[in-house]
Amino acid sequence: MTTNSQQAAVRPGKVYLIGAGPGDPTLITVKGMELLKRAQVVVYDYLATPKLLKFAPKDAQFVYVGKKGNVHHAHTQEEINQMLVDHARAGRTVVRLKGGDPFIFGRGGEEIEELCKYDIAFEVVPGVTSATAAATYAGVPITHREYTSSLAFITGHEDPTKDTSNVAWDKISTGIGTLVFYMGIKNLPSIAENLIKNGRDPKTPVVVVRWASTPIQRSVVGTIETIAQVVKDAGITPPALVVVGEVVKLRDKINWFEKRPLFNKRILVTRTREQASELVRLLEDQGADCVEGATIAMEPPESWEELDAALDQISDYQWLAFASINAIRYFFGRLHEKGMDSRDLKGPRVAAVGIATAEVLREYGIRADLIPEEYTGDGLAASMVAQGVKGAKILIPRAKKAREILPETLRENGAEVEVATVYQNVRPKDYEMVREELAAGDIHMVTFTSSSTVTNFLEMVGNDRDKLLAGVKFAAIGPITAKTAKKHGLNIDLQPLTYTIPAMVDAIVDHYKG
Ligand code: SAH
Repeated sequence: MTTNSQQAAVRPGKVYLIGAGPGDPTLITVKGMELLKRAQVVVYDYLATPKLLKFAPKDAQFVYVGKKGNVHHAHTQEEINQMLVDHARAGRTVVRLKGGDPFIFGRGGEEIEELCKYDIAFEVVPGVTSATAAATYAGVPITHREYTSSLAFITGHEDPTKDTSNVAWDKISTGIGTLVFYMGIKNLPSIAENLIKNGRDPKTPVVVVRWASTPIQRSVVGTIETIAQVVKDAGITPPALVVVGEVVKLRDKINWFEKRPLFNKRILVTRTREQASELVRLLEDQGADCVEGATIAMEPPESWEELDAALDQISDYQWLAFASINAIRYFFGRLHEKGMDSRDLKGPRVAAVGIATAEVLREYGIRADLIPEEYTGDGLAASMVAQGVKGAKILIPRAKKAREILPETLRENGAEVEVATVYQNVRPKDYEMVREELAAGDIHMVTFTSSSTVTNFLEMVGNDRDKLLAGVKFAAIGPITAKTAKKHGLNIDLQPLTYTIPAMVDAIVDHYKG
């Protein structure tokens, strides 16, 4: 039993200062992720990748306190400190998410000192700091027995005109093997000058890495005497790390991240929200930078009448045919809603258009009795006809607007076919986002995985084709999708031999290799 006084007191909250890692969201620690998942408030800055925010509870409060370069601070450090104190005192679980490691040039120490003042509970979760990430993702082992046995992290942010420096240039220039400068882009000329003046070999190799570990990573190499000019010519701006030392030579051998086949390729994946993940994951594995643009979204049909009527007499059917994964999901959604399950489908045999569709069926406990050799509606129709469909009662759950080839072919061959609308394609919300991405001219390729993605995409592009699609390449998953594209005047640049997502990704990789 709780006493009145216990009920009245607010249980104090706790602040977790968490390193978000260098940019790739999957580089956060497991502990950081677990804590993020139970945050009530998330306070994050510019360098803590926003891609992590989706892992926090939807109803959490998100506060951006970002600092971008040194131009504009959304909140002062004092305000941030106060915010952490206030939320914790109100009893909330606060995640303070910082780029890289919170205690490495992140002012994490100051925030924690403030919490100590008020006796607020806290924990600190280290993160992968951008220095090690930048070196690693630029193919540089930051230490190596043959090249260096010491390493320093240095801020390059110091005012170079300051007479007395906190950086002991005379000692670090020759006393340390590998030197990594954070925030050093603006002062790069004076950093180089200081190193040379204090005795470091001007020919020492240097790599500068911008947005390390992200799909937009860029790196350039030079020597201490050339790097400032190289960076200027390449137009490299913060955030970037400067890595100085003999270890940089190893990059020629080890540069793994930037050598992935789709590195620096920005690909617009036009799929429905629900489906995009596999394609995106496989493309990202190959180094691509994916923009997920839903050109279609799905909703249940206006009425379930057709399907309900068929389900009530399902044992009268000889075949149940599925030409898409969506049809299966919506079909079973409704079946379960009606208090039925897979055991009620005992009568008919089940046909699936391809292996992916058949795999989804298996999730519902059903093994497909028929999968055609060619994974298209036509292929499915042909295989079913080959089995003999004369007089057979066939149910096809499908989208509101769908190609008629399957039911027509079956009917022509004597089947009694019923189609039941189980979902409909609707216009998604993020049209504008996709248009802006295209207008910016950064997108190298657009992928199409069904005819409706083509038509929806073109509808979105509208009359601005010349402006939005100049130089963009197009990939289609199979012949039907490609044909639809051609019919609408889009030139398909590549198409896999088998009509699956992995095969499509292979074809895209081959395209860029070639
Ligand atoms: N606490 C952070 C560092 C914050 S200081 C950490 O541990 O990484 C900010 C500086 O970090 C930037 O100016 C830049 O030099 C560096 N930085 C952070 N993220 C980076 C990234 N993804 N790529 C390159 N440099 C990065």
